[in-house]
Amino acid sequence: MQFSDLPLHHALHKALDLKGLTTPTEIQQLAIPYALLGRDLIASSKTGSGKTLAFLLPAVHRVLTQAPLSRRDPRVLILAPTRELAKQVFLQLKGLLGKQSLRAALVLGGENFNDQVKALKHYPQFIVGTAGRVADHLVDKSLYLNGLELLILDEADRMLDLGFAPQLKLIDKAADHRKRQTMMFSATLDNAELHYLTKNLLKAPQRITVGSASEEHVDIEQRFILADNVTHKEALLTKIMAEKNFRQIIIFTATRADTERLSILLNEQGMHSIALSGKLTQGQRSNIMNEFSRGQQHILVTTDVASRGLDLLNVALVINFDLPKLADEYVHRVGRTGRAGNKGMAVSLVGPKDWPSYLLIKDFLQQQIEFSAIPGLSAKFKGLRPPRQIQEAPVEQNATTKQVTTTQVKPAPKRVNTMQGVEAGNLPPKRKPRAAIMPVDEEE
Ligand code: ADP
Ligand code: MG
Repeated sequence: MQFSDLPLHHALHKALDLKGLTTPTEIQQLAIPYALLGRDLIASSKTGSGKTLAFLLPAVHRVLTQAPLSRRDPRVLILAPTRELAKQVFLQLKGLLGKQSLRAALVLGGENFNDQVKALKHYPQFIVGTAGRVADHLVDKSLYLNGLELLILDEADRMLDLGFAPQLKLIDKAADHRKRQTMMFSATLDNAELHYLTKNLLKAPQRITVGSASEEHVDIEQRFILADNVTHKEALLTKIMAEKNFRQIIIFTATRADTERLSILLNEQGMHSIALSGKLTQGQRSNIMNEFSRGQQHILVTTDVASRGLDLLNVALVINFDLPKLADEYVHRVGRTGRAGNKGMAVSLVGPKDWPSYLLIKDFLQQQIEFSAIPGLSAKFKGLRPPRQIQEAPVEQNATTKQVTTTQVKPAPKRVNTMQGVEAGNLPPKRKPRAAIMPVDEEE
């Protein structure tokens, strides 16, 4: 199938030609026809497989070809979990709109509220934003969604992880009418909390799944290396980055403080790096992402604030300095490389503190994980044993009444992934909100 086979508005065909795109990716081939029919969708495919165009093309087509429900209210609202991702989607949307006399507004937390109110008064047909700030505008009555025709949630699962369920419900209620179409996209859409959201926000959705998040991503070489402690991790990090001439590198750490510490350390060693975390002001965040995406910086040290959706085609290496707490975040982090058919490498450093996360990731991924070692930097740490269950052996009743106690190690129970394929009525205990486990880079 070619893009020319899809019944899209000619302006969109022209925009695709300008981008040099001829063949839709698998998710685009499957999702676009349903989206054009007005069906609700819940769609997932691996990272870097073109999900953004899979929702933007039908959205723009609809606005170009159908009469609006309302001349004042936005017709399409696209929500993303981070400001950086929302901005990227917005720029891609602007690229598709070209010279059409259609307006799009970007509504992000951390930016001037009144400027956004002014932009909303121009009645944009498209709004791209983060859920918190969009909800704020609803409360402020600077935005009404009565005429909304299409609600798109990019990385919906992450929005829930960040605690945006109340804002999503508010947005849903503000646009609650029969004609609204809703679409959700992510590489990981099978976590339990999402069932609740899909049940409530979507009407008889068509589910489209290309592959599974736990399947091996053929374009990403994934390596795991054991590490003893932070100093050892730092030595490994430098060695790995020197292995070859990687175009751009992203390093993920567990905490915001570590992004800065590591970035300073790398700069002291003569490597150009910048640190991005949710702690910075919006202006600083924008500058950093601009510099990195323009290739002015070689290394980005960040937290999970940059794990989702960012499309940076020159990233050839992702390093997990610390492992993420959840397996789905691992999938998204490594997915910052190996995009749109490019090859990439992802290296994860596994120390004693990372071991519980490592076990979760190992269970999630349907692949054999073997640890590799860097010559001269092998770890003493070889992994943690499963907890031992100590049982008293029966006392021998012989003449000398010698008492022998043996410890019997029971095989560890097989770990099961409780988040997969669970029916909504039979949910496992709700998982801890992320904020309780680790500092999260929250959007407003
Ligand atoms: P996802 O959301 O699935 O992670 P993106 O939508 O960010 O992926 O797209 C990843 C990259 O693939 C982008 O650089 C995009 O321009 C490119 N891309 C999208 N569709 C196509 C296509 N049909 N052919 C070639 N490249 C594409
Ligand atoms: Mg995406």
